[in-house]
Amino acid sequence: MLILKNISKQYHDSKNYTLKNINLKFANKGLVSILGPSGCGKSTLLNIISSIDTPSAGKLLIDNININKLSPRTLNYYHGKFIGLVYQNYNLLNYMNVVDNIELINKSKHTKSILDYLHLSDKKFCSVKNLSGGEKQRVSIARALVNNPRILLCDEPTGALDSKTSEEIMKLLKDISKKILVIVVTHNENLAKQYSDRIITMNDGKIIADTKNRQMASSFNFNPSPVRISQNRLINIIVKNIQGKFRRNILFVLAFSIGLISLAMVLGLSVGFNKSLVLEEKNSLSKYPIYISETSENLDNSLNNIFTEEEKLQDDYIYSKESAHKNHLTEEYIEDLQNISSSTEYQIKTYFLDNKIINIANKSIDEFNIIYGKRATEENEIILVVNNHKIDANILNSIGLTEEKYQYSEILNAKFKINKNEYTIVGIAEPDSASIFNDLSGLFLNTNKKILEIPLAIMLYPKDYENKQIIINTLNKYPDITYTDYASTFKNVTKTIVDAISIILIGFSVVALLVSTIMIGIIAYISVVE
Ligand code: ADP
Ligand code: MG
Repeated sequence: MLILKNISKQYHDSKNYTLKNINLKFANKGLVSILGPSGCGKSTLLNIISSIDTPSAGKLLIDNININKLSPRTLNYYHGKFIGLVYQNYNLLNYMNVVDNIELINKSKHTKSILDYLHLSDKKFCSVKNLSGGEKQRVSIARALVNNPRILLCDEPTGALDSKTSEEIMKLLKDISKKILVIVVTHNENLAKQYSDRIITMNDGKIIADTKNRQMASSFNFNPSPVRISQNRLINIIVKNIQGKFRRNILFVLAFSIGLISLAMVLGLSVGFNKSLVLEEKNSLSKYPIYISETSENLDNSLNNIFTEEEKLQDDYIYSKESAHKNHLTEEYIEDLQNISSSTEYQIKTYFLDNKIINIANKSIDEFNIIYGKRATEENEIILVVNNHKIDANILNSIGLTEEKYQYSEILNAKFKINKNEYTIVGIAEPDSASIFNDLSGLFLNTNKKILEIPLAIMLYPKDYENKQIIINTLNKYPDITYTDYASTFKNVTKTIVDAISIILIGFSVVALLVSTIMIGIIAYISVVE
């Protein structure tokens, strides 16, 4: 006997009771129809009988066992083996065939006989989505019957069907009810009257009529035991789902892969770039010059200053500001640099003598490529170094050359004085490795003699990476004298830009990855929920 004792139901979000003190008894066989207007609580009642929902008050008893007190696994037995459910919209998995839908939770030895009984044998391997409404409802009835339930609960099973098919389904349910209890919620009063053994009418959460024409105190032989739902079946459903919705899923997988690949590519690129930057620093970057002058500044610092906020000044005031940093090059400093000349390719010092700008290389001027004339060999010989055919106008003017351009031959053998000594231009040269930062052009004296005056500026060209470290260490002994290291500035600026770009790209790929991961998760979740 199935007994509903003082069952009431109030949903959390509703003020009124959806079911009000329902008392019903059902025998273990027969077709019971539940009629009533939409919203009166029929589905709620069915959900409580199937124990999908729990009552707010009252008891659901089967053979005097309280269903609401069963352990979750014993409840699995009740759901899986004792009751079968049929819905108006079939609740079938469209991407599976008929047999797979019927054997959704477990394989059954009854499947064949049920298929025969419901005339579905020749549709066995048809995809469910190709079946007619009546066939779909028969499949859903087959699925409900496959575990030999003792109660079949049907919520408007004919609601979506035409009248002829509805009648077929009702006949079928009637036939089934000869062996088990069938409870049918329906809107179709005529069909209910024609086929039911008993009609219960509901309104506003209450029973208002009950024909009670077949009431026997009969046992269901309810003997529940704990049941575990097999994980394999769930995984099987997910796999079937993914296969069934192949095209949609392949899109998500594609999105996921694109996200993953682009993430890997961006990471690879930025790691690779930084590595090559380190290599570059060791090879060519280390040859970029280090520049020291009275006003040379640490470029890294001035770059940082761009990003620091400017202080607020009051409108009608004037402020004194720190004068630009001045380097005081001392003799000791110059001598220290002289001592590390073996670490440098060139050290080029710039002097201002007799209104003339003179560069002196610590190495022989042979290192430049002579493009006209000869190498300087005597002490009073001078080489004109041009940078891509150009030389600073001030330098030319200082030796009396004021025209816009000169032929090589016109300049050769020109004479001029520095500190009362007369010098002759004997050759024109280009530096063999032009610096992109500094103009090497100027007058070069052929001398290794110590000039006691302090130079205006010094350019140090490191030999290689290791020697550059020696130079840097020497320079760092004088914290008051700042220098410009073009290589590290170049490196830092490039690295900052590459890092910024990488971060943006990584951001994009992570979003793509996240979205596709969530989508895949949702697919798996939906397929289980279905
Ligand atoms: P019927 O099946 O008779 O048409 P239902 O049992 O589905 O009616 O619903 C009865 C009442 O309970 C309706 O007013 C409905 O809005 C309400 N109701 C149903 N399910 C819920 C729920 N999960 N949460 C809140 N209210 C619900
Ligand atoms: Mg309903």
